[in-house]
Amino acid sequence: MSNPGEFLQAGADGKLWLYCQECNEVKNFNAVEHVNCIANENYWGAEPWWHDTRVFNCKECGTEQKSKIEYAP
Ligand SMILES: [Zn+2]
Repeated sequence: MSNPGEFLQAGADGKLWLYCQECNEVKNFNAVEHVNCIANENYWGAEPWWHDTRVFNCKECGTEQKSKIEYAP
């Protein structure tokens, strides 16, 4: 999955997940309110979108969380 189109398609297909530390479980990428995207300045490879830190609001517990993106088909 080395291009942004595939990444976006995975998101559209519900295969991307973020971890909520408050709920102690993963949340679907599409089911949270995205706040910010923090690039990993130490990553210089070809797939930077996997290495961003996502800041999001969890709709279940109402807290702001930071998480790496996980892929799970
Ligand atoms: Zn939560």
